[in-house]
Amino acid sequence: MSNVLIQQGNEPMAFLPTPPASQQGRERQKSVSHGQPLSELLNKLDNCAVEQAQAAQSLQLAAPATSNIFLPTPPPSSPRFKSRDDADSSVNEDALAPVSSTTATQLIQERIASALQTGSEQAFFIGDLSATYEAVKTWRNSPLGDRVEIFYAVKCNPSPVVLHLLSLMGTSFDCASTAEIDLVLSLPTAPTGDRIIFANPCKPASYIRSAARAGVEMMTFDNADELYKIARHYPNAKLVLRILTDDSKSLCRLGLKYGAPLATCPGLLALAVKLGLNVIGVSFHVGSGCKDPNQFTDAVWRARQVFDMGAKAGFDFTFLDVGGGFERDGFAEMSVVLRDALEQYFPREQGTRIVAEPGRFLVSTAFTLATNVIARRRAIVGDGHEQAVQAEAAKEDGEGADVMYYINDGVYGAFNCIMFDHQIVHPYPLTISHSIASAIPRLPGPPPPNVALPVDLCTSMGYRSMEKASIWGPTCDSIDCVRQVVPLPTGLEVGDWLGWGEMGAYTMCAASKFNGMPLAEVYYTDGGNTEDAQAVRKILDGFEV
Ligand SMILES: *Cc1c(COP(=O)(O)O)cnc(C)c1O
Repeated sequence: MSNVLIQQGNEPMAFLPTPPASQQGRERQKSVSHGQPLSELLNKLDNCAVEQAQAAQSLQLAAPATSNIFLPTPPPSSPRFKSRDDADSSVNEDALAPVSSTTATQLIQERIASALQTGSEQAFFIGDLSATYEAVKTWRNSPLGDRVEIFYAVKCNPSPVVLHLLSLMGTSFDCASTAEIDLVLSLPTAPTGDRIIFANPCKPASYIRSAARAGVEMMTFDNADELYKIARHYPNAKLVLRILTDDSKSLCRLGLKYGAPLATCPGLLALAVKLGLNVIGVSFHVGSGCKDPNQFTDAVWRARQVFDMGAKAGFDFTFLDVGGGFERDGFAEMSVVLRDALEQYFPREQGTRIVAEPGRFLVSTAFTLATNVIARRRAIVGDGHEQAVQAEAAKEDGEGADVMYYINDGVYGAFNCIMFDHQIVHPYPLTISHSIASAIPRLPGPPPPNVALPVDLCTSMGYRSMEKASIWGPTCDSIDCVRQVVPLPTGLEVGDWLGWGEMGAYTMCAASKFNGMPLAEVYYTDGGNTEDAQAVRKILDGFEV
């Protein structure tokens, strides 16, 4: 905070920020606008801030003299980190990882059969590229298809193989950091900067500079300070004003963090004019996992208001970014509602370029996770006090589990989606008593989606008895619980495998190695024997390195 203020004091007085919403912010702005010298401004700050500023100054002075001397020599074995120049020139080999031509189910079962033989127990993902292909096809054949371009939200799943396929299919990309931009630019297809939008409204200055170097012109903003930063580091950028919309019906609400309220937009646009910046349009994000299509109607209406504000400020907006939030469930309805809102507020003849940033929509169904049961305990029957502790621990359904399974991925790994993405995950047995034959699914169907095991499926497969299980991750933290109570067939043992469907979105990208637990490996397939799989194969094979 304090550093920002000091910098603003140094700016020419014309560079006035729009009043921030908070009262405190308003007072601060007054003091800047009255043109007090820096020393007076500093006096107004608390002592702590002054000390911080002084410390920062002395650090800056000291840095050049000492920085080289104190750098330790890296040991010979330390990994070599790529510099930007390397990243620019070298192609990301991971994007060209082998892609099998079996069905996802077959590939899972092959890997498990070999694991059972070799004793390998490492958790792994299967990435079925035909599911991502199918999602892009669904988008393009939907009511949005002929109007709304895809800018895939890289953060959702930055698998280089998926990015490579998407790039070959002609999508563009939404990146939020320099590393994501470098990743996209390093794809073997060599996408150019105009296929990237830097959709992070609050960027470090260094990221803005590297976007400028990489030729990534489009970037979002939602506050005055961002405009000052961009004016200094990338004055020719094409700016997109991220506005606040109602996200109350979404799984992950993003409006708490980003988006300019409508009332602040005229001020921001006026500031952009003063700074000589080029604002090309508007973006929003209704929140990830949006359950209510009407959120889009409201958001498009708001975008229209801001387009009109832009015209008043002297801009000619040509770009509307409707963000992400799309799910496969309910997409048929949502795409119609959004299409209609776009027709109403942005009629085609106006020629506005419209893009979206789907993340979850394109990858969620493409990944299945297979985890190994590494330990098992019968639920302990303790004395009175211990039972109370257990009852407290097993709140779900108000009843405890009969058996506890410990698997080798958990909430610190791929299942972080339980914490961060508010997901409920459903297991199914890939082996029972080390036998694939008796488990779900049978060949040759696709892996089951993320739904509770259907009882009739279990009976049809001959499972006579089910029991209540709790499922725990591998770390030593008791928060590392994947399911508190879930029915599973009896007969599961240590060494058996559990499968988890629809694990492509917001899973491996945020997984940590807490407690020294490795990340799950990923194996890819084109999907095997469907038309979509053949299309994927054709696309991948058509690409010559
Ligand atoms: C996360 C994010 C997305 C993707 O959201 P989904 O819900 O996965 O579609 C798109 N745009 C921005 C700016 C985001 O932050």
